[in-house]
Amino acid sequence: MKSATRLRLVLGDQLNASHSWFREKHQGTLYVIAELHQEASYTKHHAQKISAFFAAMSQFADALEQAGHRVLHLTLDETAQYQDLPALLAALFQRHNVDHFEYQLADEYRLRHQLENFTQGLTIKVTPYETEHFYLKDAELAHYFQQGKKHRLEHFYRKMRLRFNVMMEGDEPLGGQWNFDQQNRQKIKPKDFVAVPEPLLFSHDVTLIWERIQRHNINTIGEMNTALLWPVNRKQSLLLLDYFCRFCLVRFGQFQDAMTAKLDALGESKQWALYHSRLSFALNTKMISPQCVVDTAIAQYVSSEGEISLAQIEGFVRQIIGWREFVRGVYWSNMPEYGQLNVLNADNLLPDWFWNAKTNMNCLHYAIKQSLQYAYAHHIQRLMVTGNFCLITAIDPKQVDDWYLGIYIDAIEWVEMPNTRGMSQFADGGIVGSKAYAASGNYINKMSDYCSDCKYSVSKTIGDNACPLNALYWNFMAKHQQLFSNNPRNKMVFANWQKKPIDDQQAILKRAEYLLNNLHNI
Ligand SMILES: Cc1cc2nc3c(=O)[nH]c(=O)nc-3n(C[C@H](O)[C@H](O)[C@H](O)COP(=O)(O)OP(=O)(O)OC[C@H]3O[C@@H](n4cnc5c(N)ncnc54)[C@H](O)[C@@H]3O)c2cc1C
Ligand code: SF4
Repeated sequence: MKSATRLRLVLGDQLNASHSWFREKHQGTLYVIAELHQEASYTKHHAQKISAFFAAMSQFADALEQAGHRVLHLTLDETAQYQDLPALLAALFQRHNVDHFEYQLADEYRLRHQLENFTQGLTIKVTPYETEHFYLKDAELAHYFQQGKKHRLEHFYRKMRLRFNVMMEGDEPLGGQWNFDQQNRQKIKPKDFVAVPEPLLFSHDVTLIWERIQRHNINTIGEMNTALLWPVNRKQSLLLLDYFCRFCLVRFGQFQDAMTAKLDALGESKQWALYHSRLSFALNTKMISPQCVVDTAIAQYVSSEGEISLAQIEGFVRQIIGWREFVRGVYWSNMPEYGQLNVLNADNLLPDWFWNAKTNMNCLHYAIKQSLQYAYAHHIQRLMVTGNFCLITAIDPKQVDDWYLGIYIDAIEWVEMPNTRGMSQFADGGIVGSKAYAASGNYINKMSDYCSDCKYSVSKTIGDNACPLNALYWNFMAKHQQLFSNNPRNKMVFANWQKKPIDDQQAILKRAEYLLNNLHNI
């Protein structure tokens, strides 16, 4: 009789080589890493995103094997006959005489629920584990987050800095301040272009993976590049981190919110990346840990002896130990209800040009074109360009979620949904953020050079060539005045609206109505 096996499941976003599982080797333990139809098709993913996940899983399987572990890496060809993950696991349990099933807690509700349901019916021993990736353990989240409560990032972030002793001097933040936003967030100007570093790109051949994806009729969006530019193993993830620390950190905060469409006109291809780390895929697949990223960046800040300012490192650390851990807490304390929230009752359809970038609005054209080309847009493009447009045109948050979940290389629901449905669409009524991130063309003009070459005029609100975002913004604010007027940050906005003559208000609302009826053709 075959000896009994312990089967350990490694999901595509659990590629954490430092997990305690891997400290010892047992021939009786079989690690299973499987490409699954259900994962490649639960939403319509970007072609590069599925390829990157499959490539990284394959590399991880190879690395485990080389380290002496017993590994079963299954491709779509081998798993296609199974309806879903539970069906595959049940078959493997039989085939390998499994008496003990171990898995790491899935970060997505959908998968965690599926595994919980599946394991409830099992008679063999089952042990779930922490993923050992985040600063906060799964079991600790409930101490920090409560369902429905309007938590605030700033409060959480300070607690995290204190608890993990990150850039602290005793109980005080390094430099005496928690936040240096005032010194950051500048527009990027032509004189700054020459210093922008070329992004570090990889070139991993995923031809076979791409053929497999097509062979199995997986629907994808976006442009495919079979020389994949994203990191697919720990070594490349560390190289990308090192590159970021050496060349980008120095201006990370300064140009964190900047957007440009003019840099690539110089014959280069760097405006999509600017000073961003592009580490989100490596982080979210757990090829590197947030602690490794934060510690490495701080070490670079210290060794730079003043070249990297405190404002830059603080701005970066805030994203990782602040926002990233924060949205995870919000997600887990509010799921599954969070996925249904729609407090603004938004129900319009996402325009078709979100899938081909064919719009006359330059800002949206560039943000979407870049997303289709690289499966990447930086935070402000996601929040203040595409996100803002969907917010002020009342697009159904389910459609918005689906688009974001599909298109970005780093999109996994635990981080995508609070950012999209919460921060950008305010569909959660303010659980993630204290205000709706609604903006007119004025903001885009302040932070980018998109407007100067746009068919529309950013300084106009009415008339055929007026920037659509202007009338749509006022319409949105006027419509939700009751909900937003209590927020002191909106006091000026509503005062300005009230100051407008009634005729002007009506002309603006009429232009907005026209635009809302013609969203697919603007
Ligand atoms: C509508 C919307 C949807 C988003 N969807 C995702 C998503 O699916 N997956 C995802 O990882 N991030 C998402 N973000 C957050 C953020 O935009 C991306 O993490 C970031 O753009 C990734 O690029 P980067 O690695 O170059 O980040 P950098 O600008 O270099 O920032 C460094 C790291 O900080 C973390 N980070 C920064 N901002 C956030 C944030 N708001 N929430 C969580 N982590 C953050 C990321 O891990 C990122 O890699 C979304 C933001 C918005 C507004
Ligand atoms: S004018 Fe309006 S639509 Fe055009 S790029 Fe500027 S903000 Fe966008």
